[in-house]
Amino acid sequence: MLELRPNCECCDKDLPPESREAMICTFECTFCVECATDVLAGTCPNCGGELVRRPVRPLGKLEKYPASTKRVLKAEGCAPKAA
Ligand SMILES: [Zn+2]
Ligand SMILES: [Zn+2]
Repeated sequence: MLELRPNCECCDKDLPPESREAMICTFECTFCVECATDVLAGTCPNCGGELVRRPVRPLGKLEKYPASTKRVLKAEGCAPKAA
């Protein structure tokens, strides 16, 4: 099951479980769509994997399967991908 992390690892933008702007990799490193697209060019900076849109968990399921509240943030931020 996905953790549904609450923020972007790059810019700390809030990404609530119903957000359609959350992008994740296979390890669930989590980024907002702006960072994933403009800064990271669709590749996870932690593992090199593909970033895809995180599926929205239906509201009714969040009660039983709540989203993570543990914020994960890259201390050094995200540098634009080298060309
Ligand atoms: Zn971001
Ligand atoms: Zn990753």
